[in-house]
Amino acid sequence: MDAHHLSKRLKTVASFVPKGARLADIGSDHAYLPAYLALNKQITFAIAGEVVKGPFENAQNEILKEGLTGVVQARLKDGLAAVELTDNIDTITICGMGGPLIADILQAGKAKLQNHPRLILQPNVGEKNVRLFLDANGYTIKAEEILAEDGHTYEIIVADWTGAEPSLSELDLLFGPALRQEQNQVFKAKWTKEKDKLKKVLAQMQKAKQVPTAKIKEIEAEIAQIEGVLHG
Ligand code: SAM
Repeated sequence: MDAHHLSKRLKTVASFVPKGARLADIGSDHAYLPAYLALNKQITFAIAGEVVKGPFENAQNEILKEGLTGVVQARLKDGLAAVELTDNIDTITICGMGGPLIADILQAGKAKLQNHPRLILQPNVGEKNVRLFLDANGYTIKAEEILAEDGHTYEIIVADWTGAEPSLSELDLLFGPALRQEQNQVFKAKWTKEKDKLKKVLAQMQKAKQVPTAKIKEIEAEIAQIEGVLHG
């Protein structure tokens, strides 16, 4: 992967960045996403935010190599501290991290969301944490994608600020309001695998000398929930 050839995952993220956007990509590593968007004239300005020195230097090198110093700026900062309100950022991408970390970054940097930028988030796991943050903070999920690449499954969540009251159900939070309606093959495969994993755990627990009844009930409920969504 480089700024000219993005992974399917990052290309999908890129497709949700509005044309002419002023972007902040937080946890940018090599700055491939902002560099790709700048090379393709999709954005007018970008910040590539990184909290770790090595990835920050990778981002700096990539920006220099591609001759993008006028458009993309690498900043060594924690989370949304990379963004100043005067940057007039209208789109934020946070990709390739766990959902709890993405939610923590947004929570800690809430003051930087006062201009209500579009949020395009790609948690690797723990998607529910991300949807909880969005739902509790006036953001409405406008699109969701689930895709498989190199043996991994990725979810991409696109949200715009509407000021709406929290409205997502427990099923929406866990499975995704759009994904559970659409139920494409990747979605079905992900949740079938999750259900099979839980069934194995259940079988182990039932063999235990001291059967953990409460935990078994919990897992049975999770399995029933998945089956309900897949068959619903
Ligand atoms: N966003 C790229 C992608 O999706 O391919 C890189 C993902 S990489 C796995 C995650 C990056 O996020 C790492 O480079 C890490 O240093 C950075 N990161 C983690 N926590 C961060 C934070 N609080 N602020 C900024 N960057 C962070």
